[in-house]
Amino acid sequence: MDLMEYQAKELFAKHGVTTTLGVVVTTAEEARAAAADIGPCVVKAQVKAGGRGNAGGVKLAKTPDEAFAHATDILGMQIKGLTVNRVLVTPATPPEEEYYFSFLLDRANRQYLCIASVEGGVEIEEVARTNPDAVKQIAIDPGVGVDEATARAIATEAAFPEAVFEQAVTLIAALYTVFTEEDATLVEVNPLARLAGDRLEALDGKVTLDDNAGFRHPDHAAFEIRDETDPLEAKAQEKGLNYVKLDGEVGIIGNGAGLVMSTLDVVAYAGQRHGGVKPANFLDIGGGANAQVMADGLDVILGDAQVRAVFVNVFGGITACDEVANGIKGALEILGDQATKPLVVRLDGNNVERGREILDQLDHPLVTQVDTMDGAADRAAELASK
Ligand code: GDP
Ligand code: MN
Repeated sequence: MDLMEYQAKELFAKHGVTTTLGVVVTTAEEARAAAADIGPCVVKAQVKAGGRGNAGGVKLAKTPDEAFAHATDILGMQIKGLTVNRVLVTPATPPEEEYYFSFLLDRANRQYLCIASVEGGVEIEEVARTNPDAVKQIAIDPGVGVDEATARAIATEAAFPEAVFEQAVTLIAALYTVFTEEDATLVEVNPLARLAGDRLEALDGKVTLDDNAGFRHPDHAAFEIRDETDPLEAKAQEKGLNYVKLDGEVGIIGNGAGLVMSTLDVVAYAGQRHGGVKPANFLDIGGGANAQVMADGLDVILGDAQVRAVFVNVFGGITACDEVANGIKGALEILGDQATKPLVVRLDGNNVERGREILDQLDHPLVTQVDTMDGAADRAAELASK
């Protein structure tokens, strides 16, 4: 999960990284009120994208009325395809110098990487291209981590100026704590700024949390911003389903990511013969396809108003076809009247005969069985095109 700047700064503050939290608001009126408390301020678009400054999403306001005007402009604006729904109002603290600092997971080398530069503020890729010597890359052994001595070595390598050097050492160690204790795969500060009076402060923050470690951090759930997530994806996530909404008419349920991916291809191909219908989603119900999981999956897919037919494509392995067939039967019972769209079911693999028999006996008006994947995709596309 990527965090917004204001959320990243909350984690920074929690672990002692010097930053100013400011106030997050969703209306220009509230921005005016916040500015009246804060004084001269910066109004900053909160979207999960960089380059907000260049896109006109970061503006200085000397008065509450100016903050109102900037917030009016920025709220609703699109930055890299994302709509701005909230702005951060934060004290205007003009940076005297801007640096770059990050820790990230370096998967290829199975270690962490620290990237630091005293040429911050602008995009670091740009600095790396025009002035590569100014960008220091320091490998961090995850088994050793970053203690004060390592933080000092990093600050020396990055050549932080004397006036902020000791603050940089403290901040680097604190940022590493954010990185490890919050189970992040990225923490980035750009700009890390030297303010008046030689104060070092994180003026921006970018954090990516590792969702695989989510179980260790119940508090991270609060970072999920509902209005920024597709409602169907949010529902699927609540039910623990591996679902991605796509723009099409044929709902897809399968077991195993590889099978579901190829099902998407086959349906997209078949759709060309039936008025250009397309897959409506990716949904992998995984190994244990019991009735409840099947019902949850169908429930999410049937909730997609665009869907006109559903293709259930299952290859029985450890979970045999008869169990899946009973899962479909149970799901239809659980859903009752809510099941409203035709289901094309293709079963193959372990215990296929028994599975098909169960669905034949069920003789449900919405269910059609087709034995081959191509045939079933064609039938589902045809039904969806009607
Ligand atoms: P980004 O463009 O999305 O990375 O957004 P940033 O938060 O980095 O803001 C872009 C630029 O605006 C920074 O490089 C700073 O020069 C400036 N800026 C950001 N925050 C503040 C702030 O609190 N005070 C002042 N005076 N300038 C800021
Ligand atoms: Mn930035």
